[in-house]
Amino acid sequence: MAIVYIGIGSNLGDRHKNCLMAIALLRQNGLLVTKQSSMYETEPWGVAEQPAFVNMAVEIDTELAPMMLLCLLKKIEKAMGRQEALRWGPRIADLDILLYNDITLNTDALTIPHPLIHEREFVLKPLSEIAKDFVHPVLKKRIGDLMSKESKLRKMGYQVVPI
Ligand code: AMP
Repeated sequence: MAIVYIGIGSNLGDRHKNCLMAIALLRQNGLLVTKQSSMYETEPWGVAEQPAFVNMAVEIDTELAPMMLLCLLKKIEKAMGRQEALRWGPRIADLDILLYNDITLNTDALTIPHPLIHEREFVLKPLSEIAKDFVHPVLKKRIGDLMSKESKLRKMGYQVVPI
């Protein structure tokens, strides 16, 4: 089994519900969800004129190989009504593979660890909640140590359904 961290984001419709739906669909497709972070409201990045995102991260246990897992995440995004549109634009659901055991992979379709982990607080903050001792296989640092002390991200008041 591989321990995998997945980033979930949504900035269209009921963003909180969309994140929970994404988790339910991960489960329905046979993935074991073992941890989930809080949800954070984050300012849009890349394309500014769009609603704020809700971002979170989950830990899963899976036997799916990285490319098979990516295909499943794309299938779930599509099932939730995501349409291919503007890069960095609004989306009902965005599911990214952040870390996959300690593997490193760099192909046209898939980069692991996800290149945004250490650059974007909206990825790092929720991830550090559930994987603070996980060592980033490229940077060779604990995820918890990649976080800057000054965090401006707002934790949502929502109760995340316990796993
Ligand atoms: P996105 O806009 O975030 O859905 O990502 C667009 C594309 O990024 C996907 O279709 C993937 O082929 C590619 N990609 C590269 N690395 C990753 C990763 N670690 N997780 C998810 N998608 C990735």
